[in-house]
Amino acid sequence: MYKVDYHIHTEFSGDSKENIESMIERAIELGLAEIAITDHLEYDLLYIDWDKWTLNLDIYKAKILSLKKKYKDKIVIRFGIEIGVQPQTKDYLEAIVDKYDFDFVIASNHSIDKIDLASGILHEGRTRYEIQNLYFETVLKNIETYDKFNVFGHLDYVTRYGGSKFDEMDLEEHRDIIIKILETLISKGKGLEINTSGYRYGENRVYPRVEILKKYFELGGKIITIGSDAHVKEDVFKDLDRAYEILNELGINYITTFDKMKPILKKIN
Ligand SMILES: [Zn+2]
Ligand SMILES: [Zn+2]
Repeated sequence: MYKVDYHIHTEFSGDSKENIESMIERAIELGLAEIAITDHLEYDLLYIDWDKWTLNLDIYKAKILSLKKKYKDKIVIRFGIEIGVQPQTKDYLEAIVDKYDFDFVIASNHSIDKIDLASGILHEGRTRYEIQNLYFETVLKNIETYDKFNVFGHLDYVTRYGGSKFDEMDLEEHRDIIIKILETLISKGKGLEINTSGYRYGENRVYPRVEILKKYFELGGKIITIGSDAHVKEDVFKDLDRAYEILNELGINYITTFDKMKPILKKIN
């Protein structure tokens, strides 16, 4: 089986303290053929501690390129990033993507109107439907706006925040906008990731849920990456066996990897 983990955070992310080499060593120990380090880049947000969230891209890139060389006989390491997209930050973030010549870029919608979804502030005074609908509308705006990314991150993870009142999702209520999002991704040649962190956050599922993945393939989507969203070494490749199982059940026997943002299809078995 071609084992990869295409969503890994390290000490360069504001929310991880894990030594980058420990992550790589763990991936080698688990027999992975390939990983993408995808530390966070956030921009233009309110109420966050910028000292913690500033990613020094020169140092980050130099470190990954040196580790790529050091471990080249043991594992393929891709220079990636997870950018937190907002419509007004397109020019700024796309210039960075151009400048740093990444292998792989995940675009994720972590915030709405400059406020992080995780803060719970956006949930105040809104119903579950309202926050979920607002989230998907913002995702659509972002993917219509942005061009320089490869896959969209954890598409329906909005259920993770705001407390139990905001758990679960009635897919029928959001059907039209989700289809629009999938069609837009497909028409722009962009993919989705299967993100297994939902199992660790008490949601007992992958992001996005299987019904959405199925729809993506039915609509003609082909680009799919898989990632744990690990922030500590113990979570590298965590629950990715379930992602492979889901692909198998959907009759898909390949995943996508990226080199300099060019997709490469790899057979799983
Ligand atoms: Zn994310
Ligand atoms: Zn992440």
